[in-house]
Amino acid sequence: MRVFWDERQRRHAPVQELHNGGFVPFAEHIGRVDSMLAALGATHSVPDRGEAPLLRVHPGPYLDFLKSAFIDWKAAGRPGDAAGYVWPVIGRRALELDRIDARLGQYSMDASTPIAEGTWESAYWSAQTALAGLEALLAGDRAAFALCRPPGHHAGADYMGGYCYLNNAAVAAEAAWAAGLGRVAILDIDYHHGNGTQDIFGARGDVFFASVHADPRTDYPFFWGHGDEGGAGEGEGATLNLPLPRGTGIRDYEAALDKALEAIAAFGAGLLVCSFGADTFAGDPICAFALETADYAPVARRIASLGLPSLVVMEGGYAVDALGENVASFLRGF
Ligand SMILES: [Zn+2]
Repeated sequence: MRVFWDERQRRHAPVQELHNGGFVPFAEHIGRVDSMLAALGATHSVPDRGEAPLLRVHPGPYLDFLKSAFIDWKAAGRPGDAAGYVWPVIGRRALELDRIDARLGQYSMDASTPIAEGTWESAYWSAQTALAGLEALLAGDRAAFALCRPPGHHAGADYMGGYCYLNNAAVAAEAAWAAGLGRVAILDIDYHHGNGTQDIFGARGDVFFASVHADPRTDYPFFWGHGDEGGAGEGEGATLNLPLPRGTGIRDYEAALDKALEAIAAFGAGLLVCSFGADTFAGDPICAFALETADYAPVARRIASLGLPSLVVMEGGYAVDALGENVASFLRGF
């Protein structure tokens, strides 16, 4: 399986994040990538397809915000990385406010997604990396791995959150649709629910979204990913959430995964986008499932048994020393 990666994804380097009431070192750091690259070996380069594929998912004003936020933050005389402190949960009017603090609140859902100097550049190339993986499938590859960083599945159309700025899986899914590949299924197997992806496609009947994740009653993002969320409008029935309790090991995990795979098979997709997070690993410092390194290969084999062209898009995974081997185990399984 070809691996796609662009060095400009290294430029995103926030210093700290707000976590459990205090500032801690930013967990989604470049050491994650070094661990993966060491385990995966050679990578393929990523062409620049411009902003048009991003604009199929994200509105222009949101992209403009991401491009200018750090510059505006510095112009306001602020130290460190840009981060909001007011969120408009009561209504969300499309006000055009100038102050950087207002825009940081308007376009974000949490306090764990700071914008640093290289954030836009890395997010842009992370999305381009997902597109490069999709192009490999269009060229005839059965599967491709997009080493996307920063990750994407918590980002909605016009907001960032959970270390995510652009929704790479959604950008690839929309590009697949535009390329005429037909109905797309997205399987999200990060530890956390992919709330951004669900938000983007939840009202759509032509994109199926299935997610196996930690119960949001105990884990981030709390407000989405509950078992009764099944899509709305034309998307009614095209969303499937399978939350699992903390401590879940491979047996119960595979049982839930099989339910998701059955639903995807019944949907009749022409392409699978797999949002893969290795934060389901037993040793992950911020998560609480119990999968082992050797479990990822059989998990991947089950997914590959769908027989669909598959784009694997990297999401989370914070046990840095084991991350490379966990990802390599998963990719070998395909
Ligand atoms: Zn995660």
